[in-house]
Amino acid sequence: ALTTGIVGLPNVGKSTLFNAITQAGAESANYPFCTIDPNVGIVEVPDERLHKLTEMVQPKKVVPTAFEFTDIAGIVKGASKGEGLGNKFLSHIRQVDAILQVVRCFEDENITHVSGKVDPIDDIEVINLELIFADLETVEKRVARVEKLAKSKDKEAVAEFSVLEKIKEALSNELPARSVDLTPEEKKIVYGLHLLTMKPILYAANVSEEDLLEGGNEHVDKVRDYAAREQAEVIVICAKIEEEIAELEGEEKIAFLEELGIQEAGLDQLIRASYSLLGLATYFTAGVQEVRAWTFRKGMKAPQCAGIIHTDFERGFIRAEVVAYDDLMEAGNMGAAKEKGKVRLEGKEYEMKDGDVVHFRFNV
Ligand code: GDP
Repeated sequence: ALTTGIVGLPNVGKSTLFNAITQAGAESANYPFCTIDPNVGIVEVPDERLHKLTEMVQPKKVVPTAFEFTDIAGIVKGASKGEGLGNKFLSHIRQVDAILQVVRCFEDENITHVSGKVDPIDDIEVINLELIFADLETVEKRVARVEKLAKSKDKEAVAEFSVLEKIKEALSNELPARSVDLTPEEKKIVYGLHLLTMKPILYAANVSEEDLLEGGNEHVDKVRDYAAREQAEVIVICAKIEEEIAELEGEEKIAFLEELGIQEAGLDQLIRASYSLLGLATYFTAGVQEVRAWTFRKGMKAPQCAGIIHTDFERGFIRAEVVAYDDLMEAGNMGAAKEKGKVRLEGKEYEMKDGDVVHFRFNV
């Protein structure tokens, strides 16, 4: 499963946020294929459409789709040189698919800041520079290998060498690899290097309760400016309140959010942002036994999507009966949608869309 890794300097609120995540935790019996690891928190992906489908179908069971966050502790200045838990930290971050960087934007004299004062940009740069240094090392090692081959005009090596040079230049200028404009082919070439600064990033500005209600503060504005330069998203959260929200569900949660005057829990915003950062979408299966949401990657075809449910479904895939969520809602029920010709039979080449309600047909 895809996962977003939570990073940040000490005392910025990472553990508080991660506690909220595990507290909100999904019913793990429903997700036997999810990672069992104390550093992984599994949350349900909030989706209004699932509730609407449930009302329509009245199934025995409802299962939301889930998303994983991984707590990656241990970044300090000098990590790329192996200081602190440096190497371990970097190898953990190499395994995640996207990065969520928690940035301290709250003042509290009782809580020490590692560098003495609250300065979000300085904090972000400490972390980003460590990742850049680590990538530079990776790229330089690789360059040393392919350079000779490239000079002997080996076609693949020439292509790789040119991409590496572009990335190396960016990194040397203290810019992340993701800032380099690469074609999909070029991206494929460097994919195997698992560069840390190639991973998509998202910032969580952690503010006090008062500032959350204000929508931010001057620290948050700085983070927004910084993030805008790399086209990254910033989500304003108050980790402490998230812990409280995470204990609530359904009506209680809605009432609490209303009382606070906020639209959506920070955690739910983080889940949605991670989803879009990773190019994920949701399809549904809706039977009387179970209505369920499933996560897939945009661009996946019907058999691959069937394989998410069970590998046998992919192997024996015959067809998918598909209706778009909006069409189904408009028709009122599956039978009516069929009568209106809204339920399509799709084959192996069908690219699934967000909101598809599907019934897979397969041979076993
Ligand atoms: P970590 O080292 O990044 O994991 O940070 P922690 O989550 O342990 O938080 C460090 C301290 O900051 C703890 O005492 C938290 O209670 C406190 N803290 C976390 N979030 C907030 C917040 O939004 N506002 C305030 N005032 N304190 C917070």
